[in-house]
Amino acid sequence: MNKTQGIFQLVNEEDLNTCVNCGLCLPHCPTYRVTGEDIYSPRGRINLIRSVKHGDLELTKEIVQALDTCIQCMGCEPACPSGVQYHSIISPVKAEMHSGWRWRDAPLRCGLYVVTHMRCLRLFTRVISIAQKLKIVPKQISVPKIDFPRPRFNKKPQVRSGKEVLLFTGCVMDAWYRNIHLDTITLLEALGYSVKISGDEYGCCGALHEHAGFNKSALKMQRKMQQSESVSTIVVNSAGCSASLKNALAGSRVVLDINELLYRHITDLQHLLVRRNETVLIQEPCHLRHVQGISKEVKELLEISFTVTQMEDDGLCCGAGGSFSFSQPAMATAVRGRKLDEVNRVIISVAPETISFIASANPGCLSFLAGGKIDVAIVHPVTLLAQSLSSLNAIGVI
Ligand code: SF4
Ligand code: SF4
Repeated sequence: MNKTQGIFQLVNEEDLNTCVNCGLCLPHCPTYRVTGEDIYSPRGRINLIRSVKHGDLELTKEIVQALDTCIQCMGCEPACPSGVQYHSIISPVKAEMHSGWRWRDAPLRCGLYVVTHMRCLRLFTRVISIAQKLKIVPKQISVPKIDFPRPRFNKKPQVRSGKEVLLFTGCVMDAWYRNIHLDTITLLEALGYSVKISGDEYGCCGALHEHAGFNKSALKMQRKMQQSESVSTIVVNSAGCSASLKNALAGSRVVLDINELLYRHITDLQHLLVRRNETVLIQEPCHLRHVQGISKEVKELLEISFTVTQMEDDGLCCGAGGSFSFSQPAMATAVRGRKLDEVNRVIISVAPETISFIASANPGCLSFLAGGKIDVAIVHPVTLLAQSLSSLNAIGVI
């Protein structure tokens, strides 16, 4: 038996055989668009995985690099006419490649340790906020402007009703983007929801770990959440986390991305939101559009208050990809460069200074795009909607 046999055996042969090598997915793959090389495309990666699994190729450094540079954006799945379930091919491969100790994973493991331990994350956040005040953080480091101390949550829900939901606060989202949680609560309360906070009881959902292939750590965090006593409906305002939690808590809780919950109330929101004379350009996070199939919802919600414009790149990834921008900075920056070219093309086509905001529903995309050269404010759609509330009309307020 060849020494490489035994690797990637968890990848289903049928999944591999579904790929007919047509190449129609290639233009939808951000890493192929950047490199132009087949091994950095979905088709090329599937062929590499098949060859390694069958023992026809050894798992060389170059192959590891080709597989590690897959952002797992899943832009290839909706583009594939054969219905290749690419996620079920790449996920076990990533998990297998990162299951043991590798020195080059050490910085990423340290970073994710900080994220997982809320006290460490708060301390790190405080250090960053001081560095930002001293203006010693280079713009290339993708961290948003952090308010310290963080704005506080109300101790008790402001609205008491039978419509109770749990807002999943998460890790980075809560440490760096508490204001988006407050905007989410404002909107939900305006719709008459009683909102509880998940806080440290749930902590991090493990999406970042899972994405990096550290599945054991992710499972540990997911088990903690499965055991938490709580409200049956969980609302999540980070696209990466809502995608991950839907899988982790399937069958025990209802998990809704905030955009799909708000869309259920679009008629109410048409009465609650005021019209604004501003234009928003939407950036669709991959885990919202490609993984959860949520796209028109964000557009139609924002259209209540704004003129909305969109990119014409079929939701091509921005390069953030969970911890991808940290573990593969060169590829991530190249992918972001293409995205920013598209952003600038749209801005020029609708006339400069016409676009007031870029809206993105994922913290990774928000901070990574903001680290690029871009002069338009990048905000979460929930913030734009909350700021457009006509408070006198809010259902929960009167
Ligand atoms: S993944 Fe799908 S689109 Fe891509 S080469 Fe295979 S069959 Fe064609
Ligand atoms: S998941 Fe994204 S980066 Fe990976 S092969 Fe598919 S399109 Fe390319």
